[in-house]
Amino acid sequence: MQPLSLDDLDSIHALWTNPGVRRFLFDDQIISREQAAAEINESIERFETHGCGLWAARLREDSELIGFCGFRFFHDPPQPQLLYGFHPCHWSKGFATEAARAMIRFGFEQAGLDFVIASADAPNSASLGVMERAGMSFDRQETVNEMDTVYYRLDRRDFTPDTTFYEVSHSDPGNNSRETFMNRREFNRAMVIAAGGYVVAPRQTAPTLRVNGGRIVEHLTALSQFGKNPQGGVSRAAYSEADLLGREYVMGLMRAAGLEVKVDAAGNLVGRRAGSDPALKPLVMGSHIDSVPEGGNFDGDVGSMGAIEVAQTLAENKLTTRHPLEVIIFANEEGGTIGSHSISGEFNEKYFSLVTNSGKTIRDGIKFIGGDPDKLASIRRKPGDIHAYLELHIEQGGILDTEKINIGVVEGIVGITQWEVKIEGFANHAGTTPMNQRRDAMLAAAKFIQAVNQIVTSVPGRQVGTVGKLQAWPGAYNVIPGKVILGLELRDLDAAKVAMLYQKIRDESAAIGKASGTTFDFTETNTIVPAPTDERIRKLIDETAKGLRLTTKAMPSGAGHDAQEIARLGPVGMIFVPSVGGISHSPKEYSRPEDISGGANVLLHTLLRLDAAQLV
Ligand SMILES: [Zn+2]
Repeated sequence: MQPLSLDDLDSIHALWTNPGVRRFLFDDQIISREQAAAEINESIERFETHGCGLWAARLREDSELIGFCGFRFFHDPPQPQLLYGFHPCHWSKGFATEAARAMIRFGFEQAGLDFVIASADAPNSASLGVMERAGMSFDRQETVNEMDTVYYRLDRRDFTPDTTFYEVSHSDPGNNSRETFMNRREFNRAMVIAAGGYVVAPRQTAPTLRVNGGRIVEHLTALSQFGKNPQGGVSRAAYSEADLLGREYVMGLMRAAGLEVKVDAAGNLVGRRAGSDPALKPLVMGSHIDSVPEGGNFDGDVGSMGAIEVAQTLAENKLTTRHPLEVIIFANEEGGTIGSHSISGEFNEKYFSLVTNSGKTIRDGIKFIGGDPDKLASIRRKPGDIHAYLELHIEQGGILDTEKINIGVVEGIVGITQWEVKIEGFANHAGTTPMNQRRDAMLAAAKFIQAVNQIVTSVPGRQVGTVGKLQAWPGAYNVIPGKVILGLELRDLDAAKVAMLYQKIRDESAAIGKASGTTFDFTETNTIVPAPTDERIRKLIDETAKGLRLTTKAMPSGAGHDAQEIARLGPVGMIFVPSVGGISHSPKEYSRPEDISGGANVLLHTLLRLDAAQLV
């Protein structure tokens, strides 16, 4: 057989019409022309079904692979976006050169090609040399990863700086060997994935797709009008008139972002858009728009507007996720994460009669915003019902702001345990009882409070412990306090650490009691178990943020969030953006626009990477 010349590869059609080519390598098998034709037809069918097409073929010539591949993504006609990629796989030295030439000629001249992406291990590699010789000018785009893969965007057709591409590629972080760049099996798998219609986001790359940060700020400003208060903040308590109006506004934004919106039985706003694979579980983003009385315009709102913006950005760029996409604006977060409790199945009937900050009971409140309290069971989801959940939120603390870090990668939402501590001594005359004969419960309480602080700070970590409440009896100037009841609270991500600290506090209280003639009695009044975020998602968030040139810090969330409840159903991740001055639940709450859009971009790209990931 005559070796193929470059001219034989001038067009894709040449592959199929060249009589010198009888055998085709496809998915690691040598197949006949007929089989190859069937493959190509199938991929055209897939294209018609999924909006994404694939051509992949490699030629075997005297056992030397010289191959060619191309894949393309079409989005809605009539303005197809066409993308070709080629890959300098190490197992086929001539591959890139041949492929580059063929695709440049075929692509630019015969197809509506928008741009070509070359990934090469060095700027002067063979494939780029071919492109230069073919008269292509190109801009150096990014030096992307530790492989020194360089992406070039050819300066040829119309595309905006925000045009996004996805390349099927694989590299092994931490391994600089060229040999591991991509093996044949991985390449084939990647190609098959492309044919299946899903977007494979590249690892370690700096993606160009961005949310519209200005639009998020506009939406936040518009939302701030509902329940606006004279202090410059917002009072949009769940189930209030302001909440209802804010929700109407938000539903409009959700619809504009291409989401089909429903109010569920708990009053959650659930916006949904189908994915390309209906068999998959939904990928969920969410937060809340209700506020505490005299709260701010960022707690919950940033994550809600951010999630809607991500959906809108995807819709505008005609990007369909594999997984169905859901944006959930949870009802009544501030009043005990009631909406997410309903979805997780943790809602307790006894909550119905609780009176909320709106003045309404939870039962009446749910009805007021269009839910149906008698049908909460219908919205309950089971563990495994979601692919993953992501929530963008303001930090509500001052660590990121102080340390000038862009993104907090939330390690988990801390568990909270609260105890009522009763200290009993003996109430006696404050004038006649000598100092050495007293059993002063208040004095014991003072020593106890000191001890809590000392114990909590005696071990490394970010655990916190507080005595935030105290009452003494009988409570008179001239009576030695005989009884004190105080409230102790410990928070940490690690329940075992809380248990350890509690034991130390108990031991110390016994010693204080012995020395002061008092007794200590502890009653656990409230426990919220810690909700760690998913380690794989944390890693994705961290890598994604760094890829966007943002600095990150791993940190616990000291405040509760809906993510805590959703963690019962599947893997969750949370992205924090800085709160200026660490202020929250206050009209002075503020996050900078650039931090908000940075966080939303991390949300967007983490979502896309999660969409491509198997999280089983
Ligand atoms: Zn919140």
